[in-house]
Amino acid sequence: MTTEGARGAVEVICPGCASDGAQAVPEVCADHAAGREGLADRLARSPGVPSRFDSCLHFVEGMLMAGVGVALAYGGVDGGRPLFAVGGSLLAVLVFAGTIVVVRGEGRERALVAAGAPRADALWRSAYYCAGCASVFCPGGTPWQGRLTPEQFKKLVWTEAGYGKQLEERFTDVELPPGIPAGPGGSRDHA
Ligand SMILES: [Zn+2]
Repeated sequence: MTTEGARGAVEVICPGCASDGAQAVPEVCADHAAGREGLADRLARSPGVPSRFDSCLHFVEGMLMAGVGVALAYGGVDGGRPLFAVGGSLLAVLVFAGTIVVVRGEGRERALVAAGAPRADALWRSAYYCAGCASVFCPGGTPWQGRLTPEQFKKLVWTEAGYGKQLEERFTDVELPPGIPAGPGGSRDHA
């Protein structure tokens, strides 16, 4: 669906409504207005994950709270108040364990998204979004062919990249047309 324009610029024509106003998906997602309308989220390449900085912050917060428990326990032991000693110790242990679970979970999410990033990027980067008929397509049918709704597109990218489980519940009913991605380089490596 690409035609050479007068000055060599490639014009993208929507296969659905023949409009030439389609915008590259990465551009749409970088657009603040699209973010406000939820469009950037509907076309998102991957799940949002907490950054390393966020995880560090969560760790520090957890350790501070565990520290409060330790201080309580110490105070209880010193002051001969066993309830404080036991409660403080319990609080410290629970918060410590909870923090480790949360921070490790965040690390696993980051690793999962990083592992699927090249695959997600390959399917996502070449796609265009047509506002006229709200469809997503790849000019020339590479790396995938056909026309998808934003929901189908997100499901395709996330499923192929291994983020399928991260999709919200409403995606359960979203069906992909058979044979996508079928363009060069697009191979289904799962059932
Ligand atoms: Zn269109």
